[in-house]
Amino acid sequence: MKKKAVYIAYTGGTIGMKHTDMGFAPVPGYLKDALNAQPEFQDSSLPELHLHEYSKLIDSSNVTPEHWNMIAEDIVARYDDYDGFVILHGTDTMAYSASALSFMLENLSKPVIFTGSQIPFSKLRSDARDNLIGAIQLAAYSEIPEVSLYFHNTLYRGNCSSKSDSSGFAAYQAPNYPALASVGVDITINRHQTLALPKAPLQLHKIKKTDIGTLHLFPGISADVLKNYLRQPVKGLILLTYGAGNIPSHDKELVEHIEDACKRGVVIVNCSQCLKGTVDMSAYETGSILAKAGVVNAKDMMLEACVTKLSWLLSQHQDPEKVRKLMSEDLRGELRL
Ligand code: ASP
Repeated sequence: MKKKAVYIAYTGGTIGMKHTDMGFAPVPGYLKDALNAQPEFQDSSLPELHLHEYSKLIDSSNVTPEHWNMIAEDIVARYDDYDGFVILHGTDTMAYSASALSFMLENLSKPVIFTGSQIPFSKLRSDARDNLIGAIQLAAYSEIPEVSLYFHNTLYRGNCSSKSDSSGFAAYQAPNYPALASVGVDITINRHQTLALPKAPLQLHKIKKTDIGTLHLFPGISADVLKNYLRQPVKGLILLTYGAGNIPSHDKELVEHIEDACKRGVVIVNCSQCLKGTVDMSAYETGSILAKAGVVNAKDMMLEACVTKLSWLLSQHQDPEKVRKLMSEDLRGELRL
């Protein structure tokens, strides 16, 4: 039987970083040398590996939609040659990148798995080795046809994940969706939680930088601040609301600015500040006022999914009504209806 093959795209991040005068930074060639020096990466039980280091390695805090287009185009160009893809990425924005790629790659039939590490590969107590080997094995053998994120023995749906710990090895959570796979003595794949194999061929829909914003509400927020957020050229705003999607509805000015912006075609999305659970705009008067104004219900979508989905939809469509409709639909397993 032909040996499985995995393509590893190395974009940067702590996993391949080295200590420099300015602190940790990615250094070209360093990760490849470190991998070649480790006997376990020559193990015959591993699939055939091809590591491609991007010409400009970045700390993922510098990631932009152009990087997402570059990664997606890279996958599409090599799609037929590999059984699965591992994207080595910094942890800071990995959940955003995994979400963005999930929307950009429609009808994915092979695993695309993001991973990285909290400690560089070459350090003694690094989590890189386990994360990388787990991601490689899942990419080669799991046949999970979606963009996912593997960290600390758990495979999460990419667009349901969020970085929740800046230093612990279990750095990610997907509070609203069960793990796609977990790795212990055995590798357990939760087949009934993964997306179905698509019937149509892979399609790439690129993303552009769009004029959107996020606004985290807090008691005493000024209506003027919101008004400024909603000024031109803003096309979309994610409102981070309380609990099940509530706002301070007694502040009439605030409500008026929201209503007015919706009428002007700004796509406003109601996403809860709570990591777990869903927005329900019919639960309280303080939420139903938003539904009446034309605000979109993000349901149980993570902020990372909301931001990348809104940006991606606005890159594809001019009509705010169409964007509102698609924003509240489940496109890639990112929300539960
Ligand atoms: N700042 C780093 C990055 O996101 C953090 C990491 O990789 O863990 O690239």
